Amino acid sequence: MIDAPLKLFNSLTRSLEVFEPVHPGEARVYSCGPTVYNYPHIGNMRAYVFADVLGRTLAWKGYTLTHVINITDVGHLTDDADAGEDKMEKMAAERAQSIWDIAEHYKQAYWADVRALNIRQPAQWTVATDYVPQMIEFAKGIAEKHCYELESGLYFDVSTVADYGRLARAVTDDGEGRIEAVEGKRNAADFAIWRKTPPGETRQMEWDSPWGRGAPGWHLECSVMSGEVLGFPFDIHTGGIDHREIHHPNEIAQNQAHCCTNGLDDPRNSGARIWMHNNFLVERSGKMSKSSGEFLRLQLLIDRGYHPLAYRLMCLQAHYRSELEFSWEGLGAALTRLKRMVMAVGALADVSSQPEAEHPKFAPVLAKFDEAMADDLNTPIALTALEEALAVKKVDAGIKRAVIEDMDAVLGLNLFGLTRADLRIRPKSATLTEAEIEAALARRKDARAAKDFAASDAIRNELAAQGVEVMDGDPLGWEWRLA
Ligand code: AMP
Ligand code: ZN
Repeated sequence: MIDAPLKLFNSLTRSLEVFEPVHPGEARVYSCGPTVYNYPHIGNMRAYVFADVLGRTLAWKGYTLTHVINITDVGHLTDDADAGEDKMEKMAAERAQSIWDIAEHYKQAYWADVRALNIRQPAQWTVATDYVPQMIEFAKGIAEKHCYELESGLYFDVSTVADYGRLARAVTDDGEGRIEAVEGKRNAADFAIWRKTPPGETRQMEWDSPWGRGAPGWHLECSVMSGEVLGFPFDIHTGGIDHREIHHPNEIAQNQAHCCTNGLDDPRNSGARIWMHNNFLVERSGKMSKSSGEFLRLQLLIDRGYHPLAYRLMCLQAHYRSELEFSWEGLGAALTRLKRMVMAVGALADVSSQPEAEHPKFAPVLAKFDEAMADDLNTPIALTALEEALAVKKVDAGIKRAVIEDMDAVLGLNLFGLTRADLRIRPKSATLTEAEIEAALARRKDARAAKDFAASDAIRNELAAQGVEVMDGDPLGWEWRLA
C-alpha cells in the first residue's frame, strides 16, 4: 500500500524525477545551514522544516537517512555574489565581541529553534571552521587548472567548467545582476575560494594557506563539507531558492572541477544528483529583514502566544516550492487547526499503539497520504489525509493510533507529545495569569447557563479591559486570546 514511487523536483533538470539512491537503500542529504551571525528569522527556519520533512519522508519510504547540515561560522559575505564584508566579522566588530562567541551564541539560538520546530537532529552538524585544512586541500587540487590569484585572493574561473550556471539558468556572460567588486576578475561570475587578509590587517579568523593568510570562501565550504562527509556523488542537496542562483551554481562548478570535469552526463560533476530548493516565506511589511530592528524570529511568535509547532503546521500547509505569505491571521488559523488535531488525538492518549494490525478503513487514507508525500512532498494534501484518518470512527483505537503515529512521524507535528494546555502559551505581555482568566471564564459560563446575560457581559467587559478577548465564535469553545 505504501509503495508510491518517490518523485522529487530536481532544480537541475527542472523536472520531477523518481528518486533512485546512489547507494541502494540509503539516502544521503546535505542542507545548507545557517550563517550564525544573527538569529534566524522564521523564513530561514522554513528551509529547515522543508529539509526535515524531506528526511522524514525518505525514512518513511524505507531509506536509511544520513543528513548533514552545516553551520557557517566564517566566510559568508554580506553579498552572495562575492562582494561586501564577512557577515561574522561585521557583527563581531559592531558588537565588539569575539567571532567565536558570536558564532556560539547564534548557533545555540538556531538549535533552540530547531528543537522547538521538532526538526530532527541530522546525523551530523558540520561546522565550517572544523574543516579548513580539508578546504585548503580541495582548493590546492583545483587551483592549477581552475583558479587564478589576485591580490585579494584565489579566484575560481567559471569559464573552466562546462556549462557554468546551468542550475540558475539565468547567468549571462557579463554576470547579470552582479556587482563586480574585485578588479582583475576574468569573468564577472568568478568568485573567491580563498580570501587573503589584506596586508597590515589581522582578522579574528584566519589561517595560513599556499595563497597567504586568510579565510575560505563560503561556496568552498559547502563543497568540501558535503563531499567529505557524504562522498561524491551523494543524493540530495537542499537550500532556499536564493541559493539556486549563485551559491549552488558555484558549489557545482567547484565540484565539477574537483571531480575532474568528466562529461556533463556524469552525475559526479554536480556533487549531488538532485538539487532541491524551498521557496521563500514572504511578509509584506518587511519584518523578515534582519536589519529591520524587531524581525520575525520564532521567539517573537512564542512571545505573542503562538506555539512554535503552529508555525511548522503553517509551513506544511503550503507546498515547499510555493511562496508562502506570513500573516498573524494565518498563524492563528494554523494554531486552531493544530488544536483540533491535538484534541482528536487526545482520545487516543491512553491507548497502546498496534502498528502490526491493519484495518481496511485506513487503507484509502494511508494510500492518499503516501501518494501525496511521494508526489514531491505534497504536505497540504498529506495533512488532509491525516485529518481524515483522525475522523475515522468505529475502529480499534490501537490501530488508529498506529496510523496517526505513522503519519505524524513524517509530518513531525508531535501530536502525541502535545496537550491542549501546551498550545496555550501565555503571551509575554500578558498581565493576567492563565488561571485568573480561566476562573473568570468559568464564572461567565455559569452566568450564561443561568441566563444572567448582564453578569456574563460584565465579566466579558472586565476581561476586555485587561486585554483578554473572549472568542465566543470559536468552534472549539475554549478559546480566548490577549488582544
Ligand atoms: P542563511 O543563514 O542566510 O544562509 O540562510 C539560511 C537558509 O534560509 C538558506 O537555505 C536560505 O536560502 C534560506 N532562506 C533565506 N530567506 C528565506 C525566506 N524568506 N524563506 C525561506 N527560506 C529562506
Ligand atoms: Zn551552502
